[in-house]
Amino acid sequence: MNGFTTKAIHGVREPDTHNALRPPVYESVTFEFDSSADLENAFLGRKPAHTYSRITNPTVAEFEKRLTYLSGGLGTIAVSSGMASIANTFLSIAGTGDNIVISPFLFGNTFSLLASTLKRWGLEIRLADFSDMNAIEKLLDDRTRAVYLESITNPQLAVYDIPQIARIADRHGILVILDNTVMTPYAFDAKAAGVHIEVLSATKYISGGGTAVGGAIIDYGTYDWSKNPHLYDDVKAYGRFCFLRRLRQEVYRNTGACMSPHTAYLLSLGLETLALRIERSFGNALKISEYLLDWKDVVSVNYPGLRYSGYRQISEQLFDGRFGGILTFSLKNKEDCYRFMDALKIIRRATNINDNKTLIIHPASTIYCEFSPEERARLGVSDTMLRLSAGIEDIDDLIADIGQALNVLG
Ligand code: PLP
Repeated sequence: MNGFTTKAIHGVREPDTHNALRPPVYESVTFEFDSSADLENAFLGRKPAHTYSRITNPTVAEFEKRLTYLSGGLGTIAVSSGMASIANTFLSIAGTGDNIVISPFLFGNTFSLLASTLKRWGLEIRLADFSDMNAIEKLLDDRTRAVYLESITNPQLAVYDIPQIARIADRHGILVILDNTVMTPYAFDAKAAGVHIEVLSATKYISGGGTAVGGAIIDYGTYDWSKNPHLYDDVKAYGRFCFLRRLRQEVYRNTGACMSPHTAYLLSLGLETLALRIERSFGNALKISEYLLDWKDVVSVNYPGLRYSGYRQISEQLFDGRFGGILTFSLKNKEDCYRFMDALKIIRRATNINDNKTLIIHPASTIYCEFSPEERARLGVSDTMLRLSAGIEDIDDLIADIGQALNVLG
């Protein structure tokens, strides 16, 4: 079994009493044991068993197994959202006085988590231009717990040389965490690129239909955890499983960021069609970007797949000729952006990405409305920019919708 979709459909088989081809959804909070001794053994971890659904649940475990199998990881922990995957990871590996090295081009809530929430607990963020390897290396020291990046940054759509960044971090024994939400394990093999931990918002492509909020943390089993003082003692007891164990038995358990069984069911279903949906959405994004170039009211188009994009070459190398499903473009002013958006008939005005439906948003007045104009400028979010996330509709319908809405401006 080699193909992603075959593996997604047939790779993990859970036995079922009725031979149901679709495993049941275990909507149960708790699980009964035959004896007190069995219960004690389960709590002590001597006998693997589900005890309470905030910690493990059979339906959620099935989703975790599928992601582990598809990504070639050591293990996966499914969580309640993409943000929960990011927060739980930082909480497991860092503490007061430590620092995390990031690019200023980062998903807004991740930036806010680091720059506001975790800063109050004494975690420092260090900003570098991730296209400048020396700038990154200069910031690393013995309190750096991770270099954190995104496969394609949202919404700037910057693509960095992830393998080279990973090599630099590796030289210093530093963990590399990648938010692979917009590419997923199907379109980017993060493990092969030297990433140690992958975090995902499964809300996006994995769900597809925009049916459920969820996230996942995948440990590739490639980091030497003895280099992190917070996990040093755990390495002796649990070896390469120490990070997963730290999450399951402490941080994930104690923060209560668990995935619901119903969400796990929907997301497992989503994994089966992930590859098909990604190919279609990425193809639509490229065609829409090229179409927009011909319009006089469109001031600029930003998509890594466009010939003139500074990120085209690196995207080709990293993502095997794929460039993602998101593009941004600028109109002459904010009023034109609103008029264009309001004239759309098929494309929906909503804040999400990688839905089956094509979605559009004006980031400056919505996702980034809490940021100051200076912060927005630093994050590359201008007042004239629109972000479009390509869905899987028929391209001719999308192009016709965009064309008629642009005509309203003329
Ligand atoms: N990472 C990226 C790149 C995102 O775009 C988002 C949400 O838009 C998240 C993480 C957070 O995901 P969630 O909404 O599932 O918490």
